[in-house]
Amino acid sequence: MQILKSIKAFKHHYFKIRKIATKLAKKGSLKLKISISDNIIDEELFTPENYKTVQFVVLMRRFLDQKDNLYYKNVWGLLNEHFADVLPQETIKYFEKFDKQMIEGDIGININGESLTAEKIYQILADGEYFGNSRKAQVYLKYLKEIPIIGALFWYKFHTYTMDGFKLAQFLFDTIVQIKNSSKFKNLIADDSQYQKQCIYCLSISGKFTSEEHIFPESLGNDELILQKGFVCDECNNGILSCLDDFLLKFEPVAFLQVHFVPYKKNGQLPSANFQNLSIKRTTPKNIAIKTKDKSAFIIHNKYSKTGEIDFTISIKGKKFDAKMLGRALYKIALGMVAFDQGHEIACDSKFDSARNFIMKGQGFSNNILIKKEGTPHPKIRVAHNKLFDCTPFVIDIFGLFFLLNLELQPLLNFNKIITQEQFFLYSLEK
Ligand SMILES: [Zn+2]
Repeated sequence: MQILKSIKAFKHHYFKIRKIATKLAKKGSLKLKISISDNIIDEELFTPENYKTVQFVVLMRRFLDQKDNLYYKNVWGLLNEHFADVLPQETIKYFEKFDKQMIEGDIGININGESLTAEKIYQILADGEYFGNSRKAQVYLKYLKEIPIIGALFWYKFHTYTMDGFKLAQFLFDTIVQIKNSSKFKNLIADDSQYQKQCIYCLSISGKFTSEEHIFPESLGNDELILQKGFVCDECNNGILSCLDDFLLKFEPVAFLQVHFVPYKKNGQLPSANFQNLSIKRTTPKNIAIKTKDKSAFIIHNKYSKTGEIDFTISIKGKKFDAKMLGRALYKIALGMVAFDQGHEIACDSKFDSARNFIMKGQGFSNNILIKKEGTPHPKIRVAHNKLFDCTPFVIDIFGLFFLLNLELQPLLNFNKIITQEQFFLYSLEK
């Protein structure tokens, strides 16, 4: 049911933005001030409140990035494809008119015969400066910025395009509300509510099943690996599973890498992390602020490469390492993946009962977990598992942190010729 999934994902993201947009609207509006004195042109752009403006622009990116499945034209395309007969003519006309206005923007800019639309300016600034490092966009921007006033005017357009995008998102949301009353939509929902109900963690069939479950926490940027309603009961979802997700998010290496790689957290805020000796937070999509609390956190080994990258070492002091809690958080992910790939029946099989007791109650699990000592950080979360006859091995990779585990008691995960002591830490999950 791709269309329902897309509508749900759109609404979920839209609500996050609406909350921030409401707060931002109370702080004032965007202003561009241009003054000329002694033949010197001075331009300045005022945004209502810096942090919230950044947050708003970051969240809006998903609706305005042509590569994103929540790109507003993709959402509109899907609504048209499935509900063309329900959409009133005036709604279609309104979208087309607004879309055209938004692309062109309110002030026409023409440089050397080339007309620069608001959409083009937004994409160039997004790719070359705000979000990305596209060399092509950067060269073009450098050329344009040599023209007076263009700098501030461009940023003004970047922000007004983003705000227009929000108005369009509001319109899409209103359109979805309209569609929801149609019998076509009601039939889709009715089909969708025919699902099997059994919690793969506590095995209950009588509990409430009103929510989906993110296999990896949503705050790690996961919006794809989701178990649909019927797989996890509300009590587990809001209770122990949420505690385990929280533990994983606060596990120091994960928390540190999250600030580097995740654009925003579940609550829509820019990622941040607080450790014993330092705190870090994302201030813009390409800027991270590190605040040290004592000298143990001072940055050492500063090295600048030819390409402008900086190599540094920083020591983070955290709480006492709890292998068992980390293990439970990862086993929760692993069992969720079994259900995602193989369905209810396999995930509820008795061969995973020991793993279930370990996840839910913290009962000792007679196996080990391996953590790779070194890794190359990257922005993805990945999981690979094998459906072997007598064991269920997993590799979980969170931003370059590698974990190896077996969801079953046998065989015991241990060092061998391939997995050596030099490369991995080994922790027992027994006690
Ligand atoms: Zn449950």
